[in-house]
Amino acid sequence: MRTPPANLVRPFHYGGAEDRELFCDRVPLARLVRQYGTPLYVYSANNILDRVQMFAEAFAGMRATLCYSVKANSNLSILRLLASAGAGFDIVSGGELERVRQAARPSLRRVVFSGVGKTAAEIDAALAAQILVFNVESPAELDLLEQRARHFRKRAPLAMRVNPDVFAATHPYISTGMTAHKFGVAIGDATALYQRAARSAYLVPTGVSVHIGSQIRVTEPFGQALHRVMELVRELKSSHGIRIQHIDAGGGLGISYDDPPQAGKSRKDVPLFDPKAAVQGYAQHIRAALAGFDSELLLEPGRFIIAQAGALLAQVLYTKRNGPKTFVVTDAAMNDLIRPALYQAYHSIVPLRRRQNRPSTVVDVVGPVCETGDFFARDRELPALQGGDSIALLDAGAYGMSLSSNYNSRPRAAEVLVEGNRHRLIRRRETMRDLLAAEKSLLLK
Ligand SMILES: *Cc1c(COP(=O)(O)O)cnc(C)c1O
Repeated sequence: MRTPPANLVRPFHYGGAEDRELFCDRVPLARLVRQYGTPLYVYSANNILDRVQMFAEAFAGMRATLCYSVKANSNLSILRLLASAGAGFDIVSGGELERVRQAARPSLRRVVFSGVGKTAAEIDAALAAQILVFNVESPAELDLLEQRARHFRKRAPLAMRVNPDVFAATHPYISTGMTAHKFGVAIGDATALYQRAARSAYLVPTGVSVHIGSQIRVTEPFGQALHRVMELVRELKSSHGIRIQHIDAGGGLGISYDDPPQAGKSRKDVPLFDPKAAVQGYAQHIRAALAGFDSELLLEPGRFIIAQAGALLAQVLYTKRNGPKTFVVTDAAMNDLIRPALYQAYHSIVPLRRRQNRPSTVVDVVGPVCETGDFFARDRELPALQGGDSIALLDAGAYGMSLSSNYNSRPRAAEVLVEGNRHRLIRRRETMRDLLAAEKSLLLK
């Protein structure tokens, strides 16, 4: 067995006899398919830790804390792995708070709580857990936070999430930083809210937060947003005596979904995505915008940390032709990975075993779900596939399993974490019993 080439963007590469077998780190994926079945999510622990390290290096010399965005992938073992690397967490629900509590209780003090619709019960749970800060997204939420803090005789640390009104090119569903979006408060309205918080005995305005969207590849908008945040921070201090102790730059740093796997043939000679350069460019804009700010920086990356560490493995059930089109039907579906259906997202698809002299064909790769939107790829040129072959959908580590559902009453996939040459099940495949556990079968009278 070969050691994977160093500095892989992805942990997935061909190796073994004649370089034909797809591996994750040093584990042949065919072995995981035999042992755990499909659909199966596979993640590389080393790749995740490499990404955390890239952030640490890019922000070296600053007081920066990485608060991994739990919604990107919320598996308990992955949260625990990230906590062991020193990460805090960005959460958006009481459920995610509970996950952090179960996976890494000491990390609760490094939790930031985001989201436009926090309920009183969620706020209560977070107050009891003594999280780092509430990212407050509206005047009404500020009222509720004060009311709940007063009820418990506690002081709630908060950052207003401001909407800087900058444009960042990404898919419209994941762009968040403009006035037309539901997120945050207009930056012009923030000062009055900080003054209000500063007057309260139960609120402590400790930070300012911003998050302009997701899968953002051009990094200038991050700097623009933080320039506006810095103007606010200066004004709060000079005109109102409010000292901001941390700035939360949000998440959103994008990755490349369409590079070929490193050991494969180059697709159209696109330059390979360089994650290290990407995070360094990102850090450069943030550093420039924050010049003179000597307090703490919080970062909330999700996708950048976990997307490329993961793949969804599936088995080809059938191939079929309808008129001019060829369909490859897999045992994974949109309930397992909804990104193509939801965002027209592109995922590279590679076979687990490269065969010699297989011509390539143009196919649609689809799942069994009864929706025309249930596809992984359309008109994609792939090496010819047949029933029984296994494939990997790459870059599926973020917003894959966490967005999965039981649609069509399909049990959710299993998840495996690879650590070098070892692999462990970190979520078992759901059973029929799991599928029905919360329901009752009542006869109407
Ligand atoms: C979703 C989200 C993130 C993570 O975004 P990525 O694009 O995955 O980095 C960070 N912060 C907030 C507030 C979010 O809603």
